[in-house]
Amino acid sequence: MKILLMGPPGCGKGTQAERLVKELGLTHLATGDLLRTEVAKGSEIGNKASEIMKSGALVPDELIIQILRARLEAGGVEEGIILDGFPRTVEQAHALDHLMAERDGGIDKAFLIDVDDAELISRISGRFSCASCGAGYHDRFKKPRTEGVCDACGATEFVRRPDDNPQTVAERLKVYHKQTAPIADFYEKKGILVRVDGEKSIDDVYVDIRSAV
Ligand code: AMP
Repeated sequence: MKILLMGPPGCGKGTQAERLVKELGLTHLATGDLLRTEVAKGSEIGNKASEIMKSGALVPDELIIQILRARLEAGGVEEGIILDGFPRTVEQAHALDHLMAERDGGIDKAFLIDVDDAELISRISGRFSCASCGAGYHDRFKKPRTEGVCDACGATEFVRRPDDNPQTVAERLKVYHKQTAPIADFYEKKGILVRVDGEKSIDDVYVDIRSAV
C-alpha cells in the first residue's frame, strides 16, 4: 500500500499519518522531517536546505528527489509507505512516478486534506513538539496531560519550528497555492485523488481517510 497525504502546511498530514502508521504498519516518510534531520546533522544537504526552509520556499526538486530516493533505498519500506509533504511540484510528481515504476507499482491513493488559510495560520501558530522524542502538541488542541511534561517520554523541553512564524507561514501558504495545489489535477486524472474536509475533527478526518484506504 502506498499513500500520499497532500495539503497545505498545518492541514493535519502528520497527525493523520501517525494514526495510519499505528493501524496499518506503514512507514511514514515526511520529506520535511528528512530535511530537518539533515539540517540537525549539519550535512552538506542540510546546510543548503536550511536557509531555504527558513524563508518558506521549496528546496530544489533535484535535492529533495535525491533525499527521497536514498531513503527508499535504505529499506524498511516493504510494508508500504505514507508520503507526507512529497510531491510538492508537478516535476516531483513525475519523478515519483519514475521512482515507483522502478519499485513494485504506483501510488494507490492520494489524499488532499483541505483547510481554509485563516484556520491554518491559527493552527500553525500553536504548534510545538517535544525536544527529545519529537511528539507533537498544540497550545489549543493538544496540550500535554501535565503542563510542561511530554506525555510520550517525560522530557520537559519543548521546541517550535523556526518556519512556523507568521511571515514564513504566509510564504509557505503562497508557495502551496502556486506550486503544490496544481498537482491535485495530476492525481485526479489518474483517478486516485480523494478530497477530505480537513476542518472536521481529527477523528472524523481519520474516518474519512481510513474508509477510502
Ligand atoms: P514540511 O515539514 O512538510 O512543512 O516542510 C518544511 C519545509 O521543508 C518546506 O517549507 C520546504 O522548504 C521543505 N520541503 C519539505 N518537503 C519538500 C518538498 N517535497 N519539496 C521541496 N521542499 C520541501
